[in-house]
Parts: sequence; C-alpha cells; structure tokens
Amino acid sequence: MRLEFYGVRGTFPGQGRSGTKIGVNTPCARITTRTGETIIVDAGTGLRPLGEDLTARRRGKTALRVSLLLTHFHLDHIFGLPFYGPLYMSDTAIDVYSWREPEDTREILGRLSEAPLFPVPIETTPSKMAFSRIGEEGAVIGGARVTFCPLMHPQGCVAYKIEEGGRSIVFATDTEHPAEGLDGRLAAFARGASVFIYDAMYLPEEYLSGRQGWGHSTWEQGVRLAQAAGVSRLVLSHFNPDHDDHTIRKMRRAAARRFERTDAAAEGMKIKL
Ligand SMILES: [Zn+2]
Ligand SMILES: [Zn+2]
Repeated sequence: MRLEFYGVRGTFPGQGRSGTKIGVNTPCARITTRTGETIIVDAGTGLRPLGEDLTARRRGKTALRVSLLLTHFHLDHIFGLPFYGPLYMSDTAIDVYSWREPEDTREILGRLSEAPLFPVPIETTPSKMAFSRIGEEGAVIGGARVTFCPLMHPQGCVAYKIEEGGRSIVFATDTEHPAEGLDGRLAAFARGASVFIYDAMYLPEEYLSGRQGWGHSTWEQGVRLAQAAGVSRLVLSHFNPDHDDHTIRKMRRAAARRFERTDAAAEGMKIKL
C-alpha cells in the first residue's frame, strides 16, 4: 500500500499566522492498494487537489474509479466533495462508504449542494456515485480489508483500519480520550498497526484549559495509545488551524522523545508500506 496526505488540518482550513509547509487543507488522504486501486479517507478540502492529481495522472481514456471512506459528516471532512473535479466527468465513479445507512449518507451529502448553497446538486453530476454502509464485519475494497471502530466525538465518528499484505493503516482523527486517559477500545483496534494516525488538535495545556468535551485530543494521548497498541509508527494529524509549523514541529519533537517513530503529517507526505 501507499499512503499520501492531501489535507491534515482539523475544523477549518488554516495555516497559523506565518505560512505553512504542513499545509492548509482539511482531512483527506489517499491510499493506493497493491492492485493500483484508490481508497480515499475523508473528503475535506484536500479532496480538490487530490482530484486534480487523479485526473492529471490518468493514463489514456481509462475510467477513473475511487472508493471514499467517510469517518463522519462534520464539514471539515466533507466540504471538498462538491469541488472534486472528477465528479463532473462522465467516465468516473465514486463509491462512498460510511457507517451510516446508504440513504442517510446520500441525503446528508446531498444537503451540501442543495440550492441555494451550491449551483450544482451533487447527485446531478455526470460521475456515477454509489453509497454503501460498512457493517461490523467490515468490507473488502480494492483488495484491502477495511474495518472500523467507534470513536469519542460529538455526533459520532469512526476510526478506519485498512489492511493489505500484513500491513495496516489506522486513521483515528476526531477523537477525544476518556478522562482516565486511554481509549482501550481504540488501543485494541490499533494493535500492531504499521501506521497509526492520531488526532493532535490540541496541545496538552490547551486541552486542559477548556477544550474538554470538544471531541479532540493531544499528541500526548497519541503517544500513550501508540505505546499501548504497540504500533510501528505514529503520525500526528488533524492539526489546529491556528497552530503554525513551528508549534507543530515542537509537538512532534516532544512526542518523538517518548515514541521515537513519530511524524507530523503534512500535505504531500507519502508513506510506503
Ligand atoms: Zn475534524
Ligand atoms: Zn468532527
């Protein structure tokens, strides 16, 4: 599998106050399976540049088909969808998966482009869209196995695990840790993951000054989970739009002192598994 990040900001596109190499876009990541199929996790504003890449690199007249996994429906995770270029091409298909009923997913995403919010209703675009629910048993998508685990987040969210060839990637953004510190269910779900992507929205001191109950976590909890789950690599993500690159680098260094293989996600960052 190959993993590439297209958006790593939480809540709102942002860059801190002094420019950014980490990137401005909200959550979107691309996984390419061994058979060359594309799985996208979340449709944040990073979906727009991802759509551009997919169309630019398309060979000849091959149809473009992707599978999109949605962790939940907060705006920062779906707002890129109306701006996904391939939606407006007739030889493309997008299979949307979530943990909700297919009709709910279709209806919620449809609201995004309802008049007068957007000029083109998503469902009238030329691309073929299909909606599916991933059940407790998981699904096989593009040769990879996909399962989920509920997270602690207002209105619900899930972590996804994508496994292929003995390697696994776990996405766990938009989650808050319990007051006692460790989400045991998530630790069990992430056990032995090759890459564990975690919500590093707040600095520990920010979290403690009034952000409890907001549904997000800290790098410190990410380290605890990475250790408890015995993952190979921790990737911090879903960064606060007000955090500049310096703050995020400092956060990564602090985490790496306790868990050596820690990275801060950034747009364009690629991981081969
Ligand atoms: Zn979010
Ligand atoms: Zn959210």
